[in-house]
Amino acid sequence: MYNPKSLKAEEFIDHQEILDTLKYADENKENFELIDSLLEKAKNLKGLTHREASVLLACEDEERTRKMFDLAEQIKKDFYGNRIVMFAPLYLSNYCVNGCVYCPYHYKNKHICRKKLSQEEIKREVIALQDMGHKRLALEAGEDPVNNPIEYILESIKTIYSIKHKNGAIRRVNVNIAATTVENYRKLKEAGIGTYILFQETYHKESYEKLHPTGPKHNYSYHTEAMDRAMEGGIDDVGLGVLFGLELYRYEFAGLLMHAEHLEAVHGVGPHTISVPRIKKADDIDPSVFDNGISDETFGKICALIRICVPYTGMIISTRESPAVRDRVIRLGVSQISGASKTSVGGYADGGEEENSEQFDVSDNRTLDEVVNWLMSKGYIPSFCTACYRAGRTGDRFMKLCKSGQIQNCCQPNALLTLKEYLIDYASPETKKIGEQLIKNELDNIPNEKVKSKCIELLELIEKGDRDFKF
Ligand code: SAM
Repeated sequence: MYNPKSLKAEEFIDHQEILDTLKYADENKENFELIDSLLEKAKNLKGLTHREASVLLACEDEERTRKMFDLAEQIKKDFYGNRIVMFAPLYLSNYCVNGCVYCPYHYKNKHICRKKLSQEEIKREVIALQDMGHKRLALEAGEDPVNNPIEYILESIKTIYSIKHKNGAIRRVNVNIAATTVENYRKLKEAGIGTYILFQETYHKESYEKLHPTGPKHNYSYHTEAMDRAMEGGIDDVGLGVLFGLELYRYEFAGLLMHAEHLEAVHGVGPHTISVPRIKKADDIDPSVFDNGISDETFGKICALIRICVPYTGMIISTRESPAVRDRVIRLGVSQISGASKTSVGGYADGGEEENSEQFDVSDNRTLDEVVNWLMSKGYIPSFCTACYRAGRTGDRFMKLCKSGQIQNCCQPNALLTLKEYLIDYASPETKKIGEQLIKNELDNIPNEKVKSKCIELLELIEKGDRDFKF
């Protein structure tokens, strides 16, 4: 039976509750009175329930759909301003014992080049990433207790944080590795990770079991309950995600929101981020085999509704999406994007492509400088900020900051300070020119006068060679 407070996967992601939700959504998709009232309710920035959200997703009325997009844009502006946080994935190892049918790392793939980075190779990758200007990474690895045990991940995190090359530093390491034990989550927390990210792939249990026919990942409950174990292990920033294309998107959307509601109900804090990956072509994977692919239009609507329904949660979009799609969804509520990503193991230092170790084909091949330049030319502030978690503003403390509106006195100056570092240390002359002007203009959007003048002072110190200031 459905119970958001239960710690059992089948109860907080109750299949019947999702079916009833979809039925309710279908019955009400033309109930414009209800839909208008939901749109009104969403303006209070308290979010919407999975049932309410599912009605909006089912609604096909053009005018109301446009209102959803407009509202998402407004909420995004109110909470995140025009800042977009930058990150890059770092693939440590593609050894994997699982049989996920959509992922080229599945153990039966004898064609892909298997690779695991040594600590020396990790150093080279990190230096290459620092030389681009990255400060925040998402670690990626296949699941393989022999080749990629937790000790390997922990050692790699230590190596990454230890590298200081020129003015570079990786200041936040997020981790996207397979579901694990409370004890291991505790070790990850102690190693100083930022967010623990784990994509559900699909919330539909029966499909989940078919799509993960073998290996530890086959266990739906163990996978779905991972965030509760992570939180029990002390990690309070967790990142959810669905791999869109595997199952019906409306089912996934309801499941995703139910998962967020569950975390809020049990731990008092919802997900720190939500990722919205779509299946991509990869080594022996043809995305057209999966029947549930979604159009760019639907994808945009899902992004907009996530923004409306969980207004305080960050939303992440990777280079699985093309520049055109990214251009559209950053307006609708995406708050973090990756730039210049390589999905191959060792791809940053060596180019890596010819070795065929990639997880999927990227659709945005621009350099980080090009992405930063593009964002600024669209009026966004690319932010390399990692301050919140380093200042202990995680979990509910981050959410409180967000809800109080104080975020603007914190994130805005931090974004400008880290952008300034980027411009001085890594940007092309043209990007630097646009960026300097943007910083000047954006100082006025810091509401607190004292914070503003402190920020101006710190910008001058950065100009003189100092680094790593934060509010
Ligand atoms: N092995 C870990 C796990 O099982 O969660 C880490 C995940 S993997 C390196 C990162 C994510 O890539 C997966 O969770 C999956 O959603 C996504 N992925 C796998 N195959 C993909 C494909 N063909 N296209 C797009 N994304 C894919």
